[in-house]
Amino acid sequence: MLELPTSDRTVRVRLVDTTTLMTVRSEVLVQPVQPGHEILNLTDVAFLIEHEGSNQKVMFDLGTRKDYWNLPDAVRLTFDQFMPSVRIDKDVSEILRECGIPLSDIGSIVWSHYHWDHIGNVALFPPSTSLYVGPGFKAEPRLLPGFPDDSNSLVPADAFAGRDVVEPDFADGLTIGGFRAHDFFGDGSFYLLDTPGHCVGHLCGLARTTADTFIFLGGDICHFPGIIRPNAKLPFPAHIPTEALDKDPFFPTPCPCSLFAAHHPRTKDEPSRTPFYEVSSYDATAFTDPTVAQESVTKLQEFESSPDVLICIAHDTELLRYMPTLNDSPSSDLNAWKEKGWKDKIRWGWVNELPRGGRPGRKPLVEGYWRDGKIWEEAVQTLRRN
Ligand SMILES: [Zn+2]
Repeated sequence: MLELPTSDRTVRVRLVDTTTLMTVRSEVLVQPVQPGHEILNLTDVAFLIEHEGSNQKVMFDLGTRKDYWNLPDAVRLTFDQFMPSVRIDKDVSEILRECGIPLSDIGSIVWSHYHWDHIGNVALFPPSTSLYVGPGFKAEPRLLPGFPDDSNSLVPADAFAGRDVVEPDFADGLTIGGFRAHDFFGDGSFYLLDTPGHCVGHLCGLARTTADTFIFLGGDICHFPGIIRPNAKLPFPAHIPTEALDKDPFFPTPCPCSLFAAHHPRTKDEPSRTPFYEVSSYDATAFTDPTVAQESVTKLQEFESSPDVLICIAHDTELLRYMPTLNDSPSSDLNAWKEKGWKDKIRWGWVNELPRGGRPGRKPLVEGYWRDGKIWEEAVQTLRRN
């Protein structure tokens, strides 16, 4: 049984659509890969966290930078091996400014981890904005001092220049749901969780949205909801809710869950109670330690089974289908998620991505590489240029 710490202090949580559409080869992120689902469609969200008492603002992740051709060489040169398509329209800094939030209001940025699609472009924020990184980040080779000072670094040096880079302490014994926790504001309103496996220093956030409800900011603890769903505590319902399904004559009304469960890629015995995928341990995996990452996912399932916790993994496309964003509705936050029933609404939409009769479920979210709102024909040769 998941035990959540008590407090009456909360943070306001707003969802930021980082305007990223991308496709990634499934084997990089999930296993087993099945015919018709060789490519994952990914969106990418970040979160604006606001401490209710002090008005301090924190960005949890920054998504992508729109000028992805300026990424460090080690990232740029291998880009197209894993991602068949990418489109990014705006930097998060632009989105904040358009909503009337000066960048100087952002006291801190937390990187869930150092991968390019979460770190944004920190250099666009003033030096007064501090940067939080996870355990082990500062000691890891190929990170600090950053590119180009270290030509092999995976992160840009200008993210760190002139600002405080903080690796918070997780050694005081606080744990939540089996993860080491850091109480960010010291009052139980917002925790960082040490969630290892994807890469060194991977963090999740746990934001208290009311006295007894939380949003779990998942980063890349996993990339696809079918890694945690269905499960023994939240099995498939007999029928998948019609509103969760795309309009397609392939789906009968009502739509029995057996339409999907009968093609479960991992089990024939309990297909309605077993997640469809695990984290990838193929050679191409993006996880530095798939075994540890899968353990983190198992712990995440305990949070998922609590009616008081809404799980938001960064690349879950369903989040943007149902929940308001800072982009479109700056005054709307996610704090009333339980009242609004969003956990139920977002739960099963991922089945639309599964193969339908051996064919891909959904079309790619985006095709080709984009720049300035248009297809960028020279992208691959430019990105690979030494
Ligand atoms: Zn990611």
